[in-house]
Amino acid sequence: MKQFTLADCTTESAALSQLNGGAVVKAGGVDLLDLMKSGLIAPSRLVNIRNISGMNGIQSTPDGLKIGALTTLAEISENPEIKSQYAILSDACGHAATPHIRNMATLGGNLLQQNRCWYFRSDDFACLKKGKDVCFAFDGLNQYHAIFDNGTCPSVAPSSAAVALLGLNANVELSSAKRGKRTVALKDFYVKPEVNPMTRTVIQPDELLTAVTVPKPASGTRSAYQKYGDKKSFDWAIADAGVVLEMNGNICRKAAIVMGAASPVVRRSPEAEAVLQGKPITEETARAAGKAAMQGAQPLSMNGYKVQLFPVAIYRTILLAAGQMGRDPSAAG
Ligand SMILES: Cc1cc2nc3c(=O)[nH]c(=O)nc-3n(C[C@H](O)[C@H](O)[C@H](O)COP(=O)(O)OP(=O)(O)OC[C@H]3O[C@@H](n4cnc5c(N)ncnc54)[C@H](O)[C@@H]3O)c2cc1C
Repeated sequence: MKQFTLADCTTESAALSQLNGGAVVKAGGVDLLDLMKSGLIAPSRLVNIRNISGMNGIQSTPDGLKIGALTTLAEISENPEIKSQYAILSDACGHAATPHIRNMATLGGNLLQQNRCWYFRSDDFACLKKGKDVCFAFDGLNQYHAIFDNGTCPSVAPSSAAVALLGLNANVELSSAKRGKRTVALKDFYVKPEVNPMTRTVIQPDELLTAVTVPKPASGTRSAYQKYGDKKSFDWAIADAGVVLEMNGNICRKAAIVMGAASPVVRRSPEAEAVLQGKPITEETARAAGKAAMQGAQPLSMNGYKVQLFPVAIYRTILLAAGQMGRDPSAAG
């Protein structure tokens, strides 16, 4: 491993002043150290932001929530207000990874983690995301890869929290020493591979993600998230679904249906949402929404099973959000 220096920062401004010359931010370090150990990145300076107290914690405001980027997944999943008002977010953070990782992993780092494509993660494969012009997944082992938007790089969105936050119309706050602060809607935060396969988000190397804001849900909102995987725990999703329902009695005024491991960037399904809008939530409408979410899916040679798995994940998560079904015992987490 290349030698590096460590800048241990306790304020946001100190950290920002260190973000130059190829320096890289370290929060919990869960993904960052993996990337360094596998030789995918070799920064000369790590900027440790873990001890910046101003970027930590959950604030309830009249407009919703402000969650510091250093808040851990465990803290988010256990917060009583998030559990009751933003169940999709506590479900997503509480079922990511494992209890010990959730105690280390921060919200900012979770949103910024790299994808899990095994060709990208291996030093042996110089792929599109490493500046070359070949993707090994197309003719290779692609059972965990994308079924939508997979024409350039079929890696899938890895962050469980992003599924929930897209459904909740969240924004991220970014800060740079030179350009000050800016707010970006989560729906505009991730960059599709066809736009630029070398980058995952619009964050710049001199920027910190400082907080995430979540608008207050409309009255009558119910939500849920479920994740399905090869393993019960200790793994990323192979299919995950986030559902937000704005209800008027049993009629759904408005829905957000989000899929995680279906495409390179977390994906809302307007087709599934349209099926629920103005209708009661029943087994029939929930199943129809799950089916509609697969419109336009283009599975690769080994991931056709996802076209069957996602509709089930969506259908069960709609009924869970509506309070008509318990958590699926076969879901992971
Ligand atoms: C076995 C296993 C299973 C997992 N399962 C899941 C799962 O089911 N769902 C899921 O979502 N995740 C899963 N993860 C991933 C894990 O949740 C992430 O690696 C973790 O959330 C990253 O957070 P961190 O604070 O450690 O980030 P770091 O590793 O410290 O950082 C990650 C990246 O973000 C950058 N960064 C971090 N914070 C900031 C900031 N505030 N501003 C600017 N840049 C920043 C870093 O430079 C780095 O590039 C799993 C991980 C493991 C090991």
